[in-house]
Amino acid sequence: MKLATFQFEGTDRVGVVENGHMVDVSTAIPSVLAVIQRGDDGIRRVREAMSRAPRVALDRVRLRAPIPRPPKNILCLGLNYRWHVEEGARAGAAVSVPDSPLWFTKMATSVCGPFDDIALDAALSSEYDWEVELAVIIGRTGRRIRRDDALNYVHSYSVFNDLSMRDMQRRHGGQWFKSKSLDRSAPFGPWLVTADEIGDPGTLRLTCRVDGVLKQDDTASALIFDIATCIADISEVMTLEPGDVISTGTPGGVGFARTPPEFLRPGQTMESEIDRIGVLRNRIVHEART
Ligand code: MG
Repeated sequence: MKLATFQFEGTDRVGVVENGHMVDVSTAIPSVLAVIQRGDDGIRRVREAMSRAPRVALDRVRLRAPIPRPPKNILCLGLNYRWHVEEGARAGAAVSVPDSPLWFTKMATSVCGPFDDIALDAALSSEYDWEVELAVIIGRTGRRIRRDDALNYVHSYSVFNDLSMRDMQRRHGGQWFKSKSLDRSAPFGPWLVTADEIGDPGTLRLTCRVDGVLKQDDTASALIFDIATCIADISEVMTLEPGDVISTGTPGGVGFARTPPEFLRPGQTMESEIDRIGVLRNRIVHEART
């Protein structure tokens, strides 16, 4: 099932994407987050509502991030693809393959919609960079989750772009929180695809294009720490809850490690795509300071 948050006639609605249409199930459940939190009952309510729900053509609705305001920060993995670690080291960053998953978070307010414009402030950074990532949405509460049980805690998968300000990363001692938390800079969506539709997430192919030119292209099977390992690792210290979002790290092909380096510029279009999930398409615009 593909679960979406969309705006129609000015209000946020809950939808299921089916055959090029948005099936509006808002009368059955108030939000995508509520569907996740209610577990099997949430999905049952949605299914029951679908037969009598109104349908709108997909191109008539404005998609928002499936969880427009995540309840917590996004839990992110850094340096989780070997190619990305190696390209960073070649470009002079002090990075190496980590012995354990490398966690950081990104403010919940950094999330934006799958087709929103992304406004970049040249006074903040001249090195805005792309990072397509596979996002994992947690569906059940758990602490000290065993690795062999971890995928049973996954509700769904989605596409995420961990947009990053490279010059700011360096200015703040290599600590990434501020440089990856720019308001409304991290596109998420276009919807959640429930785990039963995905099967083995390692088969998912991630790509990122800028103005149609392929920059990143890898499969999630190349993750250094796979999804089950990451869930087991972080749940050693914190209780994972329904609606928590884990972004699993970016493959190689980012801008700063290119020769010469490349960064996002106003007027460009960034597309982040995962096969069998969908594509995020964001225009880069200039943010004027008032
Ligand atoms: Mg990242």
